[in-house]
Amino acid sequence: MTTRKIGILGGTFDPPHLGHLIIASEAKEQCDLDQVWFMPSATPPHKSRQVSSGKHRVAMVEEMIVDREDFEVSTIEFDRPGPSFTVDTILQLKDEHPNVQFYFIIGGDMVDSLHTWERIETLLNLVTFVGVKRPGYKFQTPFIQQIQSIDTPLIDLSSTMLRERFKSGKNTQYYVTKRVGKYIEVNRLYEDGTSIEDC
Ligand code: ATP
Repeated sequence: MTTRKIGILGGTFDPPHLGHLIIASEAKEQCDLDQVWFMPSATPPHKSRQVSSGKHRVAMVEEMIVDREDFEVSTIEFDRPGPSFTVDTILQLKDEHPNVQFYFIIGGDMVDSLHTWERIETLLNLVTFVGVKRPGYKFQTPFIQQIQSIDTPLIDLSSTMLRERFKSGKNTQYYVTKRVGKYIEVNRLYEDGTSIEDC
C-alpha cells in the first residue's frame, strides 16, 4: 500500500480565518501533501480563556473548507476525555492510519513554545513539523533543525483580532470566508455574553 502524506493543522479555530486557509494551502503545495486535516482542539492546553463550544468551532471549520475536497475536519480530539495533548492524538492517528506520514503544521507562536509541549521529543519522532513564520514571533526553538519551514507571505491575522472585530461590529468581510461570517452572524457568536461556553 502506498504511503499517503497528510498535513494536520491543529488549533482552536475560534473563529477559523483566512490565515488558516493560506497556511494549510501553502503547506499542502510546498510539502506535496495529499490532504490537510483541520483538527479543532477540545480542551486547548495552550489557551487560558473560555472558548466557543466545540460544536460551533467544528461547524465553522466545516463551513470554511466546504469547497476544498483535499481539506477535511478531524474531530478526534473530542472523542477522548481530558486534556488533548498533541502527542496522544498523533499516537492514536498513527495507530488508525499506519500507512500515513503525518506533517504537523504550526505557526510561529507555536514554534516558539515547542519546548513546553508535552513529550515533545517523542512527538518530533512521530511527525514532521512544518513551521510557518508569523508576525510578532521569533521562530526560535531548540528544535529548529527538526522543523521544515515553508515560505508564505507574513499574515498579520489572528482569531483574537477577529473576535474583537466581530464584537465591536468592525468589517470582517475579507478576514473570514463568507460562510463563516454568516455562521457567526446567525449564531450570534462573539457578542457580549452569548455563545461562549466551556467546551
Ligand atoms: P488566537 O488568536 O485565538 O490565539 P490563532 O489565530 O492563533 O488564535 P489558532 O486556531 O490558535 O488561531 O491557530 C491554529 C494554528 O494556525 C496554530 O499553529 C497557529 O500558529 C497557526 N496560525 C494561525 N494564524 C496564523 C497566521 N496568521 N500566520 C501563521 N500561522 C498562523
